[in-house]
Formats: sequence, C-alpha cells, structure tokens
Amino acid sequence: MKVYFLGTGTSQGIPVIGSNHPVCKSIDFKDKRLRVSVWISWDEHSYVIDCGPDFRQQMLASNCQKVDGILFTHEHADHTSGLDDIRPFNFKQGEIPIYAHHRVINNLKERFDYIFRTENRYPGAPSVKTIAVVNNEPFQIGSKVAIPVNVMHGDLQVFGYRIDDFAYLTDVKTIDESEIHKLKGLKVLVINALREEQHFSHLNLEEALDLIALLKPEKTYLTHISHVFGFHEEVQKKLPENVFLAYDNLEITL
Ligand SMILES: [Zn+2]
Repeated sequence: MKVYFLGTGTSQGIPVIGSNHPVCKSIDFKDKRLRVSVWISWDEHSYVIDCGPDFRQQMLASNCQKVDGILFTHEHADHTSGLDDIRPFNFKQGEIPIYAHHRVINNLKERFDYIFRTENRYPGAPSVKTIAVVNNEPFQIGSKVAIPVNVMHGDLQVFGYRIDDFAYLTDVKTIDESEIHKLKGLKVLVINALREEQHFSHLNLEEALDLIALLKPEKTYLTHISHVFGFHEEVQKKLPENVFLAYDNLEITL
C-alpha cells in the first residue's frame, strides 16, 4: 500500500495569505503545506481521505488518475470544500462513493445542495453515492477493510481510519480509552500535531508524543501543521526516533 501526503498544513495552509512569518517566507519546499489530505493506493485501488480546498492542485501534483472513494474525517471546510473538483473523475468513472458520519453527509447536503439534488440537476454537476460510516462498523474499500476510529476535535466527533497496519488520525484533541485498542500494532501512524503551544481542539507536539508513546507504532508522521510550529528542518531535529514531520508530496510504502 502506498500513502501519498497530498497536504500536511493546518486550515489556512502554508504560506498563510498576507503573512510575513519566516516559515511562510521559507524557500524550503517542505515548508509549503496544502490543506491536509492523503491518497492511499494498492493494486488497482485508489482512495483519498478528505477533499479540501486544494484538491484540484493535489490531484494534479500527485498525478492521481482515479479515485474509487473519498473517506471524510469531518465536515470542516479545510477537509471538505474541494468536493466540486471531483468532476473530472466523475466524467471518467461515474459516481464516486463518499464515506462519512451521517452528520457529515447531512452537512455536505446543505452546503453542496446541487451535488445531491435528484431533480433538475445541472448537467456536469459532481456525482456522489453516500455511505454512512458508523463507529465500530468496519467497511469494505476495494479489497481492504477500513476501521473507523472515533476521536474528538474539541467538542466535535471526527473519524480516523485504520487500514491494515496504517492509521490516519487528523484533527484529534482527545481519544477515548475505548478506541485505543484499534490503534495497537501499527506500522505507520499519521497523527495531527499543530504546534508546540496548546490549542483547544488540536493536539500540540507534547500531547501527540504522549499518545505515540502509548500506541507505540513503528513509525509516526505528524500532519495538520501550523506555520508557528517552525521550519521543517528545525522541528524534525527535535523529534524522537521514528517520529517524522510529514511534508507535501511525501510518499511512503507499507
Ligand atoms: Zn482541519
């Protein structure tokens, strides 16, 4: 299985519009971060997790040729607002399955009413098939099983996903003890770490490292990163062995 980091930035992306912060001015390509998303592929199967405002650019940069489905973590705009840009895949493949909590599906129906309209549809509008994700109900994606992992983003429920020995968790602040067993024995964990300072709805570095120490994955990649975290090169030096700061267009194989 290949995991391609399409975007590793927090909600505004890096550089932030109008910012003169040194990280936003960095010429290191590892300091340029689109909105957070990953592309997972194996054999002939190809899925993305989340579909934020940079989706079009990410599909072009990664040369992704097809999307068999989109797994949504939650409804926030940095994870969903690229949904209109699935149209080129619709034209090639037809309807695309989207997997999300029923609350998220309802939210998308409000925000993208034209996508879900059954009458008087605009020809060429995006076309999706909705599949509700329910906690503790693993579901089939291609030849693999995705296990939903229930986490909290402040007060908001978010799904992470485990596929084989890979787990992708973003926008986590807390994880209930009852979910921890789903995250044992991982080869690769991807988890959000916003910055060093505390945040009400995101793990900071210290909290992410505590969780990593508990879960003991073989390797961990940090994502959903803010510019105030610092330069990629500097932050990476502070991280323990087998913990890496992810960056856009990084591809790993499991
Ligand atoms: Zn987010």
